[in-house]
Amino acid sequence: MERNDDKCGVAERGDPRQKVTQAASRVRVVLFDIDGTLIQSGGAGMKAFERTASSAFNAPNGTKTLQFAGRTDRSIVRGFFEANRIQPHAANFQRFFDHYVFWLDHLLPRLSGRRVPGITRLMTNLRALSEPPLLGLLTGNIRLGAEIKLRHFGLWEPFQLGAFGDNHEDRDTLAEIAYQRSCERLNRQLHGNEILVIGDTLLDIQCARKIEARVLAIASGAFSLEQLRAANPDWAVEDPGHLWVNELCQ
Ligand SMILES: [Mg+2]
Repeated sequence: MERNDDKCGVAERGDPRQKVTQAASRVRVVLFDIDGTLIQSGGAGMKAFERTASSAFNAPNGTKTLQFAGRTDRSIVRGFFEANRIQPHAANFQRFFDHYVFWLDHLLPRLSGRRVPGITRLMTNLRALSEPPLLGLLTGNIRLGAEIKLRHFGLWEPFQLGAFGDNHEDRDTLAEIAYQRSCERLNRQLHGNEILVIGDTLLDIQCARKIEARVLAIASGAFSLEQLRAANPDWAVEDPGHLWVNELCQ
């Protein structure tokens, strides 16, 4: 397994990162997606959407045709509203998410979810580095939904920053928000090469490229190794527990 060719692009005019050196740097922040990357919820997220559609909007089959993988929660809910001719105003989004977090909390203990194999070892190895990076979240989950899921699997506490689905509906913009929060946290402008994004979908790879970050793709189910490799991540693996973290971060 080798990292692909250097893809450290030149920052665009007007981009604050253009003042940052283009030289290779150590990774200072690792941003994790949640579903399919840190955990597999046993379908709790999708089922919570289904129950919400039924209980709060009387649309029991209203989520059947929606695409979930890699999308932000608000984007999925907007698709549900459009498909079911429900007004996409703020009160309906609030109503949806109020019910959604209830169902998520209810369903998680009743389904057979798990941590993604190898992810605990990867996190342990990252934290054991002589200069450990900050661990953050870059997820389409709303913040409370992310917390409910990760607390259930004992994975909420390690994360020091995050960009969530209630910060923005567009995942690429979420990556920009995560980048800005990383810079604020470290009190300096970071080059994209100092950030590693870890995800399991093509949209994770795409949003990482928007901030010129390194990308590790994990083939945990949503996409095959071949599909992920076709999108040219820096690394693509099935089990992240066997990665040499110095190679990821140096
Ligand atoms: Mg995912």
